[in-house]
Amino acid sequence: MAQTLRIAAAAAMTVLLAAPASAEWVQRITDGIMGTRITVELWSEDPPQAQAAIDAVLAAMRHVDDTMSTYKPESEVSRVNAHAAEGPMRISRELYDLLTEARKYSELTEGAFDITYASVGYLYDFRRHVKPNDAQIAEALPAVDYRHVILDPRARTVRFAQPGVRIDLGGIAKGYAVDLGIRALQARGITRAYVGAGGDSRIIGDRFGKPWMVGIRDPRKGPGAVIRRIPIVDAAISTSGDYERFFDEGGVRYHHIIDPHTGHSASRVRSATVIGPYAMRTDGLSKTAFVLGPERAMEIYNRIEDIDAVIVKLDGSVIYSKGLAPARTR
Ligand code: ADP
Ligand code: MG
Repeated sequence: MAQTLRIAAAAAMTVLLAAPASAEWVQRITDGIMGTRITVELWSEDPPQAQAAIDAVLAAMRHVDDTMSTYKPESEVSRVNAHAAEGPMRISRELYDLLTEARKYSELTEGAFDITYASVGYLYDFRRHVKPNDAQIAEALPAVDYRHVILDPRARTVRFAQPGVRIDLGGIAKGYAVDLGIRALQARGITRAYVGAGGDSRIIGDRFGKPWMVGIRDPRKGPGAVIRRIPIVDAAISTSGDYERFFDEGGVRYHHIIDPHTGHSASRVRSATVIGPYAMRTDGLSKTAFVLGPERAMEIYNRIEDIDAVIVKLDGSVIYSKGLAPARTR
């Protein structure tokens, strides 16, 4: 993706000549927050202010990591996992709103998106090639159901309907963090920028009359191989792929998207890209195709008005939602 952006940057150079002397595109790449690579690029007429704006984006990302990481025992989400089965727990407005939003994606995707996937998901460790056996999955699976997360808007509490329920917001956290980063930039008057965290990106503005070009990676080739470039202005784009966090064993690919109905890795597509108004939404919807398969997922994507989608099927063929399909000539 960085490659694509650099190409776009070169294209913007000609326009740059007309801008004030100190104005420029400023880019910073940071590794290690939320376990991923953060890229921020923006147009600024004031270099020190640009650096301060990028610092603000990274601070927002660290905040999301600290609140939502299930690897951090003191994070708010970890505390919810430890205690919400005992009774209603008062939580921050921010987490409450995220849980409400997560529920929407569960409803939109017929349960394919489900933050309680973690009730079995925690038994996997993709880095160390650990997966649960069938008996472990059978025992944990009844705790997977987004309806087990009971929210009370007046008291602003969360409660789990039964013991064994765990939540993980990994399916929307990066998208949400990108949105927070964009908000921080907008609050500082930045009008042209790209913020990306792993597979989730959002763009404000354009590149002086040209769109940003964001590449969709070929799932079976190196990071530089792109199957299609999508022009983006004022929108978000998220890609989920089975090549992100995985291991292969006995001819089966085990990877980080879990089918809430079976507790196994959901492997019905190679990658799914969703384009929409903000990154939490595109992030929340990009996992659906892995669980429901390309055809069913595309029906759902086509039904949701503010998004578009590109799916790479298991045979390598690519399908597009209505808004992106090439025009038919008569
Ligand atoms: P990335 O983490 O690189 O952004 P994705 O956007 O594809 O990758 O999200 C994958 C993450 O979503 C997993 O690491 C996990 O935290 C979470 N997840 C896995 N399965 C589900 C599911 N069925 N519903 C909601 N979230 C899920
Ligand atoms: Mg994501």
